[in-house]
Amino acid sequence: MTPPLPLAEAQRRLLAGVAPLAPEQRTVLDAHGRYLAAPVIARRTQPAADLSAMDGYAMQAGTPGPWRVIGETAAGHPFTGDVGAGEAIRISTGALMPRGADAVLMQENARRTGDTLALNGEGEPSARHIRRAGFDFRIGDGVLAKGTRIGAAHVALALSAGQASLAVHRLPRLVAIDTGDELSPDPERCAEDQIPMSNGAMVAALARGYVEQVTMAGPVRDEVGALAATFARFADCDVIVTSGGASVGDHDVLRPALEAWGATIDFWRVAMKPGKPLVIARKGATLVLGLPGNPVSSYVTATMFLLPVLRKLAGATEYLPAPVTARTTRDLQAGSGGRLEFLRARIEGDRVTPLEERDSSALRSLAAANALIEWPADAPMAPAGTPVTVHRLENGGIA
Ligand code: AMP
Ligand code: MG
Repeated sequence: MTPPLPLAEAQRRLLAGVAPLAPEQRTVLDAHGRYLAAPVIARRTQPAADLSAMDGYAMQAGTPGPWRVIGETAAGHPFTGDVGAGEAIRISTGALMPRGADAVLMQENARRTGDTLALNGEGEPSARHIRRAGFDFRIGDGVLAKGTRIGAAHVALALSAGQASLAVHRLPRLVAIDTGDELSPDPERCAEDQIPMSNGAMVAALARGYVEQVTMAGPVRDEVGALAATFARFADCDVIVTSGGASVGDHDVLRPALEAWGATIDFWRVAMKPGKPLVIARKGATLVLGLPGNPVSSYVTATMFLLPVLRKLAGATEYLPAPVTARTTRDLQAGSGGRLEFLRARIEGDRVTPLEERDSSALRSLAAANALIEWPADAPMAPAGTPVTVHRLENGGIA
């Protein structure tokens, strides 16, 4: 049996075989949540002309007043004439600066009597109140980089840059398969020798933002034929994720089922705790991640392997987990020697507290955690106050 792979090597090996899915053109709002397949280049200049940044009056700079108000310019209703010395135009925020005017007097600094305008002594006309043409972006500017995930602000920017649609990557189609003879599909009807299946739904919830759809398939019995037949039903999906049956017990049918289906096992077992019996396999363009059955192991391996895969397929350029550093509030024992360990924890500000419960089936401590401490196998004992590596959980505990 080959030794378990170190985490970083396993991630590298898995992700080296993953390429972004094909790009497609979608309307800007429907591109929300997707990753750009190409940079966005502005097709227009914004603002297209000088605008007022304030409600007030537009006039020539350097004239002391008083001024005669000769017209108005409002957003969408420009003043078409010229502004001469001693003249002012009522102007509202976002309205085009009239020709000839190069300063704005804020309304708060003006005293108006009929059509006569004077300073009230609190401020002067200023060019600072003008938003210059193109100050935000100019035609031809690259305003969003390839690989950007489209959020609400990006939607507004792309539309303002004159785009009706965007080139974004297709999102992966995911299938989540729960396996195990002990699993009940109905959480409300669960015999003493059963447990409600929960891993597939947990993984689907974790994956939600990165997938086109998740199909739930399970529970599948611990039979090679049944599991191989389930794989065959989903051969057109991008990623199949299973949980359970990945170890070496008599009822651990995942690897034989993958072989019976005709998949190639890329690697098996990672030197991490929880999560050692992870299986990675491929058939054609379909990637299979066999997560361990214990829920905490499933959660941690999904976070470290499945989510990076889904992000990379979706076109993300930053797809690996991005840990932060925080100081532990408790002493940490030396690393376990053989395996990198992930400790459920609560992070608050720059301080992180490991939770007591470490059993890999314990769901309450998983739900209470908002972070994982990454604790290397060779870490020496660390007193409280030591900086440690922490992964914030994206979608996990009660933050
Ligand atoms: P296994 O790796 O199949 O031996 O499973 C390890 C432990 O995880 C067992 O106690 C299983 O009952 C539990 N388990 C496996 N699959 C699931 C699942 N889909 N939902 C909840 N618990 C599971
Ligand atoms: Mg099992």
